Amino acid sequence: MTGRVVVVGSANVDLVVDVPRQPHGGETVLGGDVRRSPGGKGANQAVAASLAGGAETTFLGAFGDDDGAEFLLASLTKAEVRTDLVSRVDSATGTAFIMVSPDGENSIVVAPGANSRLQLGQTQLERIAAADVVLAQLEVPLEAVTAAAAARRTGARMVLNAAPSRPLPDLDLDVLIVNEHEAADLAGTSGTPEELARILQRRAPAVVITLGAAGCVVAEREIEHLPGFGVSPVDTTGAGDTFCGVLAAALAEGRPLREAAERAGAAAALAVTRPGAQSAVPTAAEVAEFAEFATGGNA
Ligand code: AMP
Repeated sequence: MTGRVVVVGSANVDLVVDVPRQPHGGETVLGGDVRRSPGGKGANQAVAASLAGGAETTFLGAFGDDDGAEFLLASLTKAEVRTDLVSRVDSATGTAFIMVSPDGENSIVVAPGANSRLQLGQTQLERIAAADVVLAQLEVPLEAVTAAAAARRTGARMVLNAAPSRPLPDLDLDVLIVNEHEAADLAGTSGTPEELARILQRRAPAVVITLGAAGCVVAEREIEHLPGFGVSPVDTTGAGDTFCGVLAAALAEGRPLREAAERAGAAAALAVTRPGAQSAVPTAAEVAEFAEFATGGNA
């Protein structure tokens, strides 16, 4: 059964330029050609849920009335994400300015623009009420996340990727996904991933902490560490987003959380072997083949 996922979140045009070094205040540094790529956690996760997760996916976000919006819509549409209910607001489409220096250091300025104006209207809340899984992150107003959680039907799951870190009130969540840094921030203490997961279970009955190449920890009644799939990373941008989108899609299909996290880890591992964020998302067929091969290899 194909599951229905609604992603409530951000979309950004990423403008990337290579620089010989990061400029100091008041300094001008000449860079290389500007590259433009589709990004934003919400849009990245929607592409992953659809393309790699095989879910019928709707993206609910806000765009301006500009060329950036068309660019982002094209990428979502190519991944077969439904964009019929995206809002158009009187603000520039979200844009991230990313300077990459040879030492691998990145400086990033995000102009959230339209993302910070997202409000969910009646038709959008109705689409949420028809979903099996609602997936949100923290690059849009908390009011939108709260409204989405409240609009889900009984039995549908609310999954929050609490990224980027910010203070969070109590929300009605089913699954919380964070990386190690976000887990420590949210728990307000340091500790092993297992310890942090137990603390964060005060916020959601199920918690997943992603651990980069080391895989993830899944906490429900039991806590389990799922090791990462061994790959040679090329670009880890968007690994977490691929993980979240595929996990949501697998839950929407009715898979148990542990199995969903396993599949998400396989998809994210494939994504780190390719450059870019949305461009690195594998297809569902590639994920299935890789997961089978990797499992066979480990057995
Ligand atoms: P992160 O946001 O870095 O914790 O990564 C999210 C997920 O992507 C992890 O839980 C892994 O499943 C996967 N992942 C990230 N980096 C790697 C890597 N170098 N090798 C294999 N899998 C990775």
